Amino acid sequence: MPHPWLADRTRLFDASGIRKVFDLGAKLADPINLSIGQPDFDVPAEVRQAAIDAIQSRKNGYALTQGMPVLREKLQAAVQREFGHADRELFITSGTSGGLMLALLVLLNPGDEVLVFDPYFVMYEALVKVVGGTVVLVDTYPDFQIDLDRTADAITPRTKLILFNSPANPTGAVAGEATVRGLAELAEKRNVALLSDEIYRAFCYDGEFVSPAKFNRQTLVIDGFSKSHGMPGWRLGFAHGPAAIVREMIKLQQYSFVCAPHPFQWAGAAALDVDVSPQIEAYRRKRDLLVAGLADDYELVVPRGAFYAFPKAPWGTGTEFVQKAIEEHQLLIIPGNVFSRRDTHFRISYAAPDGMIERGIEAFKKLARR
Ligand code: PMP
Repeated sequence: MPHPWLADRTRLFDASGIRKVFDLGAKLADPINLSIGQPDFDVPAEVRQAAIDAIQSRKNGYALTQGMPVLREKLQAAVQREFGHADRELFITSGTSGGLMLALLVLLNPGDEVLVFDPYFVMYEALVKVVGGTVVLVDTYPDFQIDLDRTADAITPRTKLILFNSPANPTGAVAGEATVRGLAELAEKRNVALLSDEIYRAFCYDGEFVSPAKFNRQTLVIDGFSKSHGMPGWRLGFAHGPAAIVREMIKLQQYSFVCAPHPFQWAGAAALDVDVSPQIEAYRRKRDLLVAGLADDYELVVPRGAFYAFPKAPWGTGTEFVQKAIEEHQLLIIPGNVFSRRDTHFRISYAAPDGMIERGIEAFKKLARR
């Protein structure tokens, strides 16, 4: 029985399936943990030092709601250089998640439909429901590429927003320029808002990252430092888009998150001067290691970005396969149905030390041949 005081809102979705595997993993002595959605590299030393310096120099009070100029102006200038849109404004959020929550709150009325590409990042479905929106899934199996005709067909008079994420969690799929342009133009033509979650943009292994904001000036972008600089616990993100939308998000931030963590904004400014290409290169090698290790036994679309692979379960459902992986090999992975209406695949995170990935590959081989 739910507690009688609880509102209906949180009954609309379940606790994160990722969290369940996480809790299970905490009980195992020496798990092969390929479940975690955060980099295994630490925050670069000079960035950690900048955070310490900020705390020591008493930058511990509230920050400006829109973010401290030291970081905001630097990011705004970079975005201006990239897109050159006169109307594009930027502010600092409490993680990419904070930006996503604010975006949905300012864009959606109850009953509005949101197109989400399946498989999708878990948070999308829960947050759309929390604000009273309706999730309309657009299937991307088997190659996890967006089909523009199918997307166009899913648009109805109630469609308010398209949620786009490339490189993608959980598939590692990266949308090519033609698709990104097509999607951007479709949204513009049909007068639907487009939100681009670019948190993995630094993690593109086989080509350049392309943002739909390049082709559609109204695109709202959310991004953050959690993945690119290994600082998910510092809760630092940013959002940019049409000034009229961004200003409403800032207004709401004032009455909710208040501000992003103040000392870490100074650290974020330092982070922008750090070259993270060695970390990205290391992740490309991890991707290659995993893809080669699974090649003989698994049906896998080669992931071109982020740090996930999303193979098909060689037998059973995704859930059955993951249960056996955990029981027999202490191998922690996430069943596909956490991210999808289908329960046919599973997610591997290769944001792990090479030794852990190698142990994982051995276990995957045994599981497939079982
Ligand atoms: N978007 C995607 C696609 C993600 O995978 C994540 C983290 N798992 C987030 C947003 C949220 O990141 P954060 O709030 O830590 O910036």
